[in-house]
Amino acid sequence: MAEVLFLGGLGRSGTTLVERLLGELPGVCALGEVVHLWQRDLRDDERCGCGERFSTCEFWLRVGKSAFDGWDNVDVDRVLALRDAVERTRHIPWLASTARPAADVREYASFYAKVYAAAAEVSGAKLVVDSSKHSALAHVLRAAGDIDLRVVHVVRDARGVAYSWTKRVARPETDGADEMTRYSPGRSALLWNAHNAAFGLLARRGVPVRRIRYEEFLADPRAGLIRLADFAGITLQPADLEFLRPGHADLRVGHSAAGNPMRFTVGRLPLRHDTAWMRALPPAQRRLVGAVCGPMLRAYGYPMNPQES
Ligand SMILES: [Zn+2]
Repeated sequence: MAEVLFLGGLGRSGTTLVERLLGELPGVCALGEVVHLWQRDLRDDERCGCGERFSTCEFWLRVGKSAFDGWDNVDVDRVLALRDAVERTRHIPWLASTARPAADVREYASFYAKVYAAAAEVSGAKLVVDSSKHSALAHVLRAAGDIDLRVVHVVRDARGVAYSWTKRVARPETDGADEMTRYSPGRSALLWNAHNAAFGLLARRGVPVRRIRYEEFLADPRAGLIRLADFAGITLQPADLEFLRPGHADLRVGHSAAGNPMRFTVGRLPLRHDTAWMRALPPAQRRLVGAVCGPMLRAYGYPMNPQES
């Protein structure tokens, strides 16, 4: 059984950056957003983090061989139908309350369990990281009961998240044909509340959940990584953190299956906190998001009126 570290949180909260840094640690294999592997990689053959098409990436070929005796043996329609049936935010109360998971929950989770175990075997890693983010998937993996699951819940200031969702971002894996989804600030504020609350519920169901604030992590990535490694049961030597430099990290090639364009970065990755929202998010929208997310922002320790320094 593979040990799995699931990175959760609403999109644009910094999970990709946290994953890229974790992926540099010894004994860790970062897989990207496995939730999108079925459609974007098996179906659409988008690019792996290494730059190859999924179908020609040596790492994923070996994972598919080990997990399913080849990806051709995966019934993608079946996986996507199961996903539609069980992996829904509105199903979280049901997933969280059930003692015996339904057959379709177990079947859907089994595809992930096979990918995780094969990736651990192929890479030789002790721990695989799935940055799928979706709280509903984390609840599915918990309910299935046969995955050694730990969750890092990445929280970022809802105003920064809202601003990020308003920006246009191209998806390089589609060679410029597609852009990342955008949400209005009101919509992202509601999603921020719902997704973050869902990870609180996961912790109450007995899953080890470590919540980190993205801003705090970026202020001292070395300390943040040491704490996460400890949570994940990874033993570090001082040399293991040499890829962390003042203000940036030096990244190797990774094999992230899907996710934020940062998954393609090789070499220098700047580590700085983007505070553009403090000046660029219009005041009315800033107040709206602050009002909608106020209780949880305060619970997480965020100041209600931060100023850019
Ligand atoms: Zn690859």
